[in-house]
Amino acid sequence: MTTLVIGGGWSGLTTAVKLARQGEPVHVIEAAKHFGGRARNIEWQDKVIDNGQHIMIGAYDHMLAMMQLVSVDPETVIDRLTIDISIYDTQYSPLHLSARGKLSWPWSLAWNLVRSAGLSGLKNLVVLQRNIPKLLSDHDITVLEWLQKVGQPDRLIKQLWEPLCLATLNTSTDRASAHVLAHVLRDSLGKTQQHADLLIPKKPLGDLFPQAAADYIRRHGGKLSRQTRIAEIVTEEGLVTGVVTTAGRFIDADNVVIATGPDQSAQLLASHVRFHRPQQTPITTVYLQYHEDCRLPKPMLGMTGTMSHWLFDRSQQHPGLIAVVISAQGEHEQLSREQLIRHISQEVHQQVPTLPDRAIDAFVIREKRATFMCTVENHRQRPECETTINGLWLTGDYIKNNYPATIEGAVRNGQYCAEQILSQPSS
Ligand SMILES: Cc1cc2nc3c(=O)[nH]c(=O)nc-3n(C[C@H](O)[C@H](O)[C@H](O)COP(=O)(O)OP(=O)(O)OC[C@H]3O[C@@H](n4cnc5c(N)ncnc54)[C@H](O)[C@@H]3O)c2cc1C
Repeated sequence: MTTLVIGGGWSGLTTAVKLARQGEPVHVIEAAKHFGGRARNIEWQDKVIDNGQHIMIGAYDHMLAMMQLVSVDPETVIDRLTIDISIYDTQYSPLHLSARGKLSWPWSLAWNLVRSAGLSGLKNLVVLQRNIPKLLSDHDITVLEWLQKVGQPDRLIKQLWEPLCLATLNTSTDRASAHVLAHVLRDSLGKTQQHADLLIPKKPLGDLFPQAAADYIRRHGGKLSRQTRIAEIVTEEGLVTGVVTTAGRFIDADNVVIATGPDQSAQLLASHVRFHRPQQTPITTVYLQYHEDCRLPKPMLGMTGTMSHWLFDRSQQHPGLIAVVISAQGEHEQLSREQLIRHISQEVHQQVPTLPDRAIDAFVIREKRATFMCTVENHRQRPECETTINGLWLTGDYIKNNYPATIEGAVRNGQYCAEQILSQPSS
């Protein structure tokens, strides 16, 4: 049974690794020059960097397991840090989401929150966490509706929940799915301290999994094609028979897995099955290169009331490199590259005065279709892995699960897809 996987992002590669491991013939076809999709390596002058700053957390256990399966030791490529985030606001004093200190988890988190947001800050966090089972037992609402329903104060909404919602769902609180945010909160802050750990890559994203996954597939007898784009899925009487490339070549297969982003999946599926195409939403990363001694006071800082949302210290990889993330839509989209760099550099300097008001060099990456918009409606209509066509499967971060568009969600779905294919009776 030959399985053809269209798309060599983290999800498609996961499916292919899992199939190859069981000795199944598999062929991954990727349109781009490199594997990795939306979490890949790019070159900036003499540096290899990420196509956009990513943050992973200790709860990404499926991602970590897949890295180990393809012989990447997470410890050598990722810094695992105790959660220690400060969120600076233009109006309020800094808020600390941190497990640092002498107390054990979760008292350490509670203590740091009380110190920065008072007893009411802690009380409100507990109220929200305790409300999760009730929220999930009912129909979905927006994050903002949820926060208001449980009486979260304006400060926590602005300085904690809005930035966390944007960071994880890449969708504003007035549209984002409360169910999805609740799952993220439960899996990160609601479990052990290790689940809340920050995983900051020490290597570019392509070195974390995609390249090793491609090698693994090859070593296990699989085939990989790059710079090959699939234009069409071919079916006969409700059964998939293969695909046609944009060069007009037919490739036959018993199973076809569409592991592309939602826009490309919609095109490939157009004449086959009904498909809800979710809106996509951007993420902008501004890399600022300072003198190599320059550092942030913490590996990760949040900013609210500003255009910049999150600052990451990437010195482990390139000394003096800071990545600034701006989630979703906003005024930054109207600025030219130069205007954006100037604006962001000033904001960073105001917050971290030890950094100069101008970087030595800067690079802007605007990923227009970074993630699907995780609204109540889009989450409700996420497609299943199984389709009505025999042998045609879907995987990717937007396929049904409880996570937003994340690497962990993409990997989980990739694993599930492989399990479904493997559970089919072979003909
Ligand atoms: C800037 C940015 C920041 C992000 N931040 C985070 C973060 O902090 N934490 C986190 O967990 N996630 C983050 N994400 C999301 C994460 O990167 C994605 O959820 C994940 O990479 C999606 O993987 P995927 O395999 O589902 O899809 P993709 O990575 O989109 O893979 C699809 C692949 O299919 C290929 N393809 C498309 N059409 C065809 C065709 N016709 N024929 C052949 N191949 C085709 C594409 O080239 C691509 O390689 C971020 C994404 C971006 C862009």
